[in-house]
Amino acid sequence: MSKFESLGLQESLLVAVADLGFENPSEVQEKAIPILLEDETDLVALAQTGTGKTAAFGFPLIQKIDIASRTTQGLILSPTRELCLQITNEMQLYSKYEKGMNIVAIYGGASITDQARQIKKGAQIVVATPGRMKDMIRRGIVDITKIDYCILDEADEMLNMGFFEDIKDILSNTPKEKSTWLFSATMPKEVATIAKKFMHSPKEITVGAKNSGATTVQHEYYVVSGRDRYPALKRLADANPGIFSVVFCRTKRDTQKVAEKLIEDGYNAGALHGDLSQNQRDLVMNAFRKKQIQMLVATDVAARGIDVDDITHVINYQLPDEIETYTHRSGRTGRAGKSGISMVIVTRSELRKINAIERKIKQDFLEKKIPSGIEICEIQLYHLANNIKDTKVNDEIDGYLPAINDVLDGIDREELIKKIVSVEFTRFFNYYNKTRDLNSSDGSGRRERGATEHPKDGSVRYFINVGERDGYDWMSLKDFLRDKLGLDKDDVYKVDTKDSFSFFNTDAQFTPLILETFSDFKVDGRFINVEVSKSPGGGRGGNRGGGRRRDRDRNRGGGGRRDRNTSFKGGKSGSKKSKGKRNSGFY
Ligand code: ADP
Ligand code: MG
Repeated sequence: MSKFESLGLQESLLVAVADLGFENPSEVQEKAIPILLEDETDLVALAQTGTGKTAAFGFPLIQKIDIASRTTQGLILSPTRELCLQITNEMQLYSKYEKGMNIVAIYGGASITDQARQIKKGAQIVVATPGRMKDMIRRGIVDITKIDYCILDEADEMLNMGFFEDIKDILSNTPKEKSTWLFSATMPKEVATIAKKFMHSPKEITVGAKNSGATTVQHEYYVVSGRDRYPALKRLADANPGIFSVVFCRTKRDTQKVAEKLIEDGYNAGALHGDLSQNQRDLVMNAFRKKQIQMLVATDVAARGIDVDDITHVINYQLPDEIETYTHRSGRTGRAGKSGISMVIVTRSELRKINAIERKIKQDFLEKKIPSGIEICEIQLYHLANNIKDTKVNDEIDGYLPAINDVLDGIDREELIKKIVSVEFTRFFNYYNKTRDLNSSDGSGRRERGATEHPKDGSVRYFINVGERDGYDWMSLKDFLRDKLGLDKDDVYKVDTKDSFSFFNTDAQFTPLILETFSDFKVDGRFINVEVSKSPGGGRGGNRGGGRRRDRDRNRGGGGRRDRNTSFKGGKSGSKKSKGKRNSGFY
């Protein structure tokens, strides 16, 4: 008996589960589904973002709906249009073998007539944002006076967004004897109030530690001066060629501004905030889901709950006002058992906020340095070499080979390689050569604590030719190295995994051991190569960062990402075009 079966799900749902590729129920599913199936009860479930809450209420709800009836029996309220659509899509997949099931999404910014028409056909389940829901009730378009189940999803966020009155209004249109299921990542006072006011002795389940972020996320901060925020952001992106990230800003205006600058500087970036039209938001979200956008610059509200797996980095361009919000932000990465990194760009005056967040999430931050220009060049160079190695040969070239051979005649292999690499690299190098150190001087002054502090000159950085594509993340690579070298927990640090290679540091005393250990070292028949990295710590004085440098090398995502990217940007002209298009759409 599969684990899902033992939760009490019916056969048609189990087939859908198998189609979705879910092997085992998540913790919140394991706890919530049997309760919801067996009892007619109210429920408060607290679980982090990304723990599978949609299925935790979705499966039981679908199973309990009477498909033969066309009456609206279930109402799901969720804070944003994006979430509304996401839940609806997901629920439609769950119920794909439930013939006659009709699940309709209603949300603001889209045609109310279309939505009304869909409702009229008979929707057993309605997924709605509070504002539009209220509107449709007022106009008599939707009838929720006979619902049996009301689900409040992301309740904390709905209340954050000021939907308390709307929710109260909506609930007053529902029958008293229904079950209310409340799902939330956190339990602030307002949520407790709702639970008390509108629910009857709800059962409670909590998954994981309340309010703490996932431990698969590494938290890092970078101290810069306020005016260097943007150049610092660029360097963080450039130092992580395969980055797939959400960049959080505090205001819509900053969000828009940062996204525009990134696009202008040649990055695959997009903005997501409440001032965009629905259509623009859809375009951006679709491009992000397809990984055509590598850096989604977003406000907290617009990005809340968005379920995109594989986000490698969350970048806090500015810290949020509320610590709680930081937890939500960093929860965008490190999902589905993968590891992730949450980076914070801070000024010295904001450092005490880092301490406060650490206490809240019960996890330490690593203080990191913004990579120097030389370090970035090195990373990009290896990345480029790997891209060349992995590039699928295009046989269409065959016919032109004799002519190409003629052109390149007399250039030996070594020189040819240098030239090929230079095509891409020189532009990069010219930009970063002689850029200054962006790190705010005289250290952070925040802590003297041991573990993460290492003397700069006693520390050696290494390059190793394995990375994420070999299944490593910073944690597992650190474990691997410590294990092979017989070193202690803190001896290997600053582990940075890239797509096909990585970097790490140790104190200088271990250098002979490391070079010796990896001088002739194979894993699965493959040589593992470790070299001392050439990049010195920190940059040098000189030009200011900023300004444009590249126009087409943003299709850099590792692995399978590249193919899809090319269709989006399509090289030089494509880049220009898409930039123009998106810019013009902003206003
Ligand atoms: P939450 O609402 O808690 O933030 P979601 O319901 O959006 O989380 O689920 C996050 C992701 O995990 C979705 O892509 C979903 O399809 C996937 N997922 C949910 N349950 C399972 C499961 N049991 N096994 C594998 N993946 C799952
Ligand atoms: Mg959710």
